[in-house]
Amino acid sequence: MSYVGPDFEPPRPPRRALRGPLTVAVAALVPGALAGWLVWQSVGNDDGDGSAAQASTSAPANRSTAPGAPDGGKDDGKERPDGGTGRSGGGGSGDGRSGGAEPGPLKGKVVVVDPGHNPGNFRHPSEINREVDIGTNSKECDTTGTATNAGYTEARFTLDVSRRLRTLLEKEGATVKFTQDDDRAWGPCVDERAEIGNKAAADAVVSVHADGSAAGNRGFHVILPGSVHSGAADTRPIVASSRDLGERIAGRFLSVTGSPPSNYIGDGTGLDVRKDLGGLNLSTVPKVFIECGNMRDSKDSARLTSGAWRQKAAQGISEGIVSFLRG
Ligand code: ZN
Repeated sequence: MSYVGPDFEPPRPPRRALRGPLTVAVAALVPGALAGWLVWQSVGNDDGDGSAAQASTSAPANRSTAPGAPDGGKDDGKERPDGGTGRSGGGGSGDGRSGGAEPGPLKGKVVVVDPGHNPGNFRHPSEINREVDIGTNSKECDTTGTATNAGYTEARFTLDVSRRLRTLLEKEGATVKFTQDDDRAWGPCVDERAEIGNKAAADAVVSVHADGSAAGNRGFHVILPGSVHSGAADTRPIVASSRDLGERIAGRFLSVTGSPPSNYIGDGTGLDVRKDLGGLNLSTVPKVFIECGNMRDSKDSARLTSGAWRQKAAQGISEGIVSFLRG
């Protein structure tokens, strides 16, 4: 309610130049996401999380059914506002938490989850507007993120999905670390967010977001790092692995949520490649962003504000990560 500040993600430079051949290449490399998308299209249920999700869940697009996952594919639809973490405060951002990894297929794997923005960012404009070096150029430390028209902030959304995701990944045995868990006043800056994944030697990093685009722009997309080699940024070693991670997350996200890939970015692939995000440019480990939907669109926001849908979103992201880490 007291939300103030920029409504939208930082403006993006024109990316038309990237679109042509790159889009073709992306399309050729995402059979999972595309197959699921075709199923979604054939179902033609623009509003039905349920039927579309069920239909696409049975599609051959499923690359990972997360065998052995205690909650695999199940969703009781109940609201679990805290993500069902069962935690009672404390614990910082995941470092040194006593919870520890459970036995499971991801035992020994480290996943860093980066909940985009911070609910307190809007109170600290001078701190978050400070520019940091992202290799290719300098950029704001962090941003406030967007919000639905009714005032549900992206920062709250990203924390909720991330906590649900942590619960799911820990059930698989992964060690999960957060870049922030609403346990600090603002930030961290995008360069520190990348550094947390790097220092953890993470096997996979996912940055959770929702977009703030025009009404009518709908659907999710996964952002992959472009090949950047400039200053402190060198993504060349992680471009291929991050693409693999992102394709798997996109495919599973589509199947589990039934939400369509973006109709305004990625030409229907649900994938986008960017070279202007510090969190990707400075990463030395496989990393992607996911924009789960458009908070400014009424149909998308109905999903984003549903706890049951957010559980599906977390499940889809988790299954993509599990698939990536199990190979
Ligand atoms: Zn964001």
